[in-house]
Amino acid sequence: AKREGRNTVRFFSLNLQEQIQDALALTRDLRWAQERGQLVLHYQPKVNAVTQRIVGVEALIRWQHPTRGLVPPSRFIPIAEESGLIQEIGTWVIRRALAQTAEWQAAGLPVVPVAVNLSVVQFRHPGLRDSLAEALRDSGLPAAMLELELTESVAMEDSTFTIATIAGLKQLGVTLSIDDFGTGYSSLSYLKRFAVDKLKIDQSFVRGLHHDPQDEAIVTTVINLARSLGLTTVGEGVETTEQRDFLRRNGCDELQGYLFSRPLPAEAFETLLRSSVGV
Ligand code: C2E
Ligand code: CA
Ligand code: CA
Ligand code: CA
Repeated sequence: AKREGRNTVRFFSLNLQEQIQDALALTRDLRWAQERGQLVLHYQPKVNAVTQRIVGVEALIRWQHPTRGLVPPSRFIPIAEESGLIQEIGTWVIRRALAQTAEWQAAGLPVVPVAVNLSVVQFRHPGLRDSLAEALRDSGLPAAMLELELTESVAMEDSTFTIATIAGLKQLGVTLSIDDFGTGYSSLSYLKRFAVDKLKIDQSFVRGLHHDPQDEAIVTTVINLARSLGLTTVGEGVETTEQRDFLRRNGCDELQGYLFSRPLPAEAFETLLRSSVGV
């Protein structure tokens, strides 16, 4: 920016003001989005690395905005977190994902555990555990059908609060995953202290498989570490057969990515489940 001189800076400030206006408008709209039925969940399968059968599914939120079209979560989740709306939205996500899974189960489909992403704001909320317990009770599903994905930065604040919160969630019987593993400030010892079940290897490392030796070294190290700690590994963002084969060959347990399926609307995922022979 230095190099580009004054005009760029002036342009940037104007742009920033516009960005703030835009964020305010989005925040206003987001307040109503849920009750107006504009929020939906899409579902992306996770497959067993060897058999390629569906072994789980991740629910990913989408906002169908009346004038802007589809707003990605990267755009509105931060706004939801700053405005406090994430509490309500996050609870809706958990309840909807469980209700959908229960519906599929009632319809006789071979259901798999459903994973939801948990914001740090939800994680820090003292009512989380009770809210989860209630959502599970209402759905009629066993806790083992729910998986919570926490980003590394969320989970890894090494505090007694974090340890106690994770232990409390584990007591419920839900599965805990560390999302985007490798992108945070990892000290590996916490993996043993925190009672997590799974590591999701971040897609930024998966992208480099087959051509970047450093990414390959990171990925194999993470898989071996996870194995020695008895954790399940999931490779995220798998787009090519080369990436799939590398992960499979090196003992990664589960795979997720466009190679197998994009995140799908509920009806399309239902069709996939129905076929039930993997993807
Ligand atoms: P994430 O949890 O790491 O989810 C993976 C993201 O990668 C998703 O983007 C998914 O659509 C995308 N993806 C999956 N496979 C591939 C692939 O093969 N290639 C590429 N390039 N991308 C792939 P999405 O759905 O836009 O979500 C972005 C992020 O938004 C998520 O990252 C998660 O952190 C957050 N998010 C999504 N839904 C929720 C939610 O319900 N609550 C909260 N708190 N955060 C959410
Ligand atoms: Ca995730
Ligand atoms: Ca991720
Ligand atoms: Ca991510």
